[in-house]
Amino acid sequence: MDRARKRKLGNRYLTIIPLLALGLVSCKDKEKPVVEQKEIAIVEPKEHIEFGFNFNDYVVKRDTVKSGESFGQILERNKIGYPQIFHIAETAKETYDIARYLQKGRPYTLLCSKDSLEIPEKFIYQPSVEEYIVVSFKDSIHAYKSKKPIKYVEKVYTGVINSNISQTLDDDGLSLVLAYKMSDIYAWTIDFTRLQKGDRFKVIYTDKYIDDTIYAGINRIKAAYFEHNSEPFYAFRFKTDSVKGLTDFYNEEAKTLRRAFLKAPVEYKRISSRYNLNRRIALYGNKVRPHKGTDFAANIGTPIVATASGKVTKSSYTGGNGNYVKIRHNKVYETQYLHMQKRKVKAGDYVKQGDVIGWVGMTGNTSGPHVCYRFWKNGVQVDPFRQKLPEAEPIADSLKDKYLEFIKPIKYQLDNTNFKPQKLEEDELKQPEIRQATS
Ligand SMILES: [Zn+2]
Repeated sequence: MDRARKRKLGNRYLTIIPLLALGLVSCKDKEKPVVEQKEIAIVEPKEHIEFGFNFNDYVVKRDTVKSGESFGQILERNKIGYPQIFHIAETAKETYDIARYLQKGRPYTLLCSKDSLEIPEKFIYQPSVEEYIVVSFKDSIHAYKSKKPIKYVEKVYTGVINSNISQTLDDDGLSLVLAYKMSDIYAWTIDFTRLQKGDRFKVIYTDKYIDDTIYAGINRIKAAYFEHNSEPFYAFRFKTDSVKGLTDFYNEEAKTLRRAFLKAPVEYKRISSRYNLNRRIALYGNKVRPHKGTDFAANIGTPIVATASGKVTKSSYTGGNGNYVKIRHNKVYETQYLHMQKRKVKAGDYVKQGDVIGWVGMTGNTSGPHVCYRFWKNGVQVDPFRQKLPEAEPIADSLKDKYLEFIKPIKYQLDNTNFKPQKLEEDELKQPEIRQATS
């Protein structure tokens, strides 16, 4: 997915891994001088601190928990006798019951004495990339749980669309998550499936790093600027409720980017069929068979939600629709959801936007699991993606001035970021890689 990112990270790891490998090699073959040592010492400083320990003080052994392997077995294999293992496990239990939580495939590190005996002194287990548990048994036995330091790094990226946004990001080795996040923010303002060649964007986002070195993905988007058909669209993330931790995106005039309806009633894999009055189907002799709904393909059992608040007017079954639900939102708008596996609401119920009303299935006349989503305006089925729909709730009046003040420096930063020519940027990225590989 993001090869260039892996390549870049690969290089960053390169500077660390040889050091670790060296640590192991130098302990086992003490007599043999390690030839590359001098060369690598230039790349990385002498100290290697991890989990709060200086790894140079130990013989470091890393492995992963094998299927069915216990804490005791790992220690036993590493020269700790059974009575002591029992004692360690029992004492450590008081702070953290490590014996119970070892999971197959998770990494652990043994820090052993730097002598010919290589007796384990610390056992460090990583239940997740961020957390680790230390069981120390050199002088006194104790255990504790800790977290690796997490660092957020703010980045700015500019891109120009050639064919589609995924391609633009991929060419620069950036995660597609950035595309998903942006298409979410602009769900109602820009159709990302119909971007134009020459459309361009700037985005300020944060990357997450664990222990300074491990890239843990894109954290979130802070602000974005998208030029679609030469029209500018700003988006700024803003906390609207610090108690509940609610955030939303608004434009440079504090207007919401969302509409009163959710874009889709389900987390879908793809839109398998759009609203199309001129649809022709081969199966029916290429006759015009208008499709007045939007089909969202998703796995069976995926929750279906109400795209806006309203009153359930129908919850029943017909041969064509299968299990379906219809909701009236106000005098003008109604929505309908077809082919459900199971319905969760009944006629007369009030539902709020985002409430689960049923689950994806393939009941009725359908060839695969999807939701056929139908949108009614004044009693006529229309394409919701081609409607000027009412806006979602605007920002509270009391927050508007605060918001406009908040975005000033961010907007300044966006406006003063120039679009980089793509080719040049690629060359810049490649140069240091070549130099490192041959050093
Ligand atoms: Zn349909």
